[in-house]
Amino acid sequence: MIILDGKKLKQEILDELKEEVSNLLIKPKLVVIQVGDDPASDVYVKQKGKMAEYIGYNFEHIKLPSDILEEELLTLIDKLNDDKEVSGILVQMPLPSQINAKTVQNRVIASKDVDGLTDINTGKLVHNNDTLISCTPMGIVDLLKEYNISIKGKHVVIVGRSDLVGKPLINLFLNNDATVTVCHSKTNNLESITKLADILVVAIGNKEFVKADMVKDNAVVIDVGINRDNNKLYGDVDFSNVSKKSSYITPVPGGVGPMTVAELAKNVLKAYKINRH
Ligand code: NAP
Repeated sequence: MIILDGKKLKQEILDELKEEVSNLLIKPKLVVIQVGDDPASDVYVKQKGKMAEYIGYNFEHIKLPSDILEEELLTLIDKLNDDKEVSGILVQMPLPSQINAKTVQNRVIASKDVDGLTDINTGKLVHNNDTLISCTPMGIVDLLKEYNISIKGKHVVIVGRSDLVGKPLINLFLNNDATVTVCHSKTNNLESITKLADILVVAIGNKEFVKADMVKDNAVVIDVGINRDNNKLYGDVDFSNVSKKSSYITPVPGGVGPMTVAELAKNVLKAYKINRH
């Protein structure tokens, strides 16, 4: 069994970007908008700021009160869309209930949508056109490629169909010539399907849900889950047992999580290039 080391690949990606950015006279700028005081969001925004500082991006963290109106947030995004200094805009989820997350995400101009979540960018992904792609799915595919794990012709089973992870992954794997099955909470006989996977991706948010008897021998297992329990992080996969029968597996932490940050870093530079043309 080989552990897919997302932390190591992230560092390599950041170092490459840092080198490229050091040669730019005008630096790319990432703006992260956070609404309210969700503690997990605080951690994620901090990680993004650290990444930006390391590479040499300009970074702005706009923190807004939780009672802000949707209209005010949309006006702010319009301003950032028009600001030539800004390369990428990211609205940290979750948003408070008075705000429609989809409306807000779609207000970000597609060329600055470093999260790859606007309808325009997800549509381009469906049509396999080059675009800004959602960071976690892209990180998974890049990690597989780094370890020369072929995707073409493989049966990929994705458990979870969120807009953030599962849905973009379907298209990304299809675009890489995989045969894709997607499962969710209403799927019958889940384990009869997960057992067929050459590559099993689990993104459900349920601590150690996938047990060894749900996985085929020598499968590649990608664990997207981040579940906090007593200040410790757990994946959606029972790592200690599943790792014994898999050929490759991602750890939690240290697998998909760092790759998500690395892909965001790549998207900021990509957006910068798109916006300067
Ligand atoms: P989400 O929006 O809550 O979606 C969860 C998906 O899992 C839904 O499609 C749901 O099905 C499905 N699901 C839930 N329980 C299931 C079960 N028992 N059997 C089969 N399917 C089930 O979650 P998300 O945003 O995709 O995130 C999933 C996990 O990944 C979370 O732990 C999150 O923290 C983590 N995550 C990690 C990263 C990273 O960088 N590593 C990035 C994003 C998310 P329905 O659609 O039927 O409800």
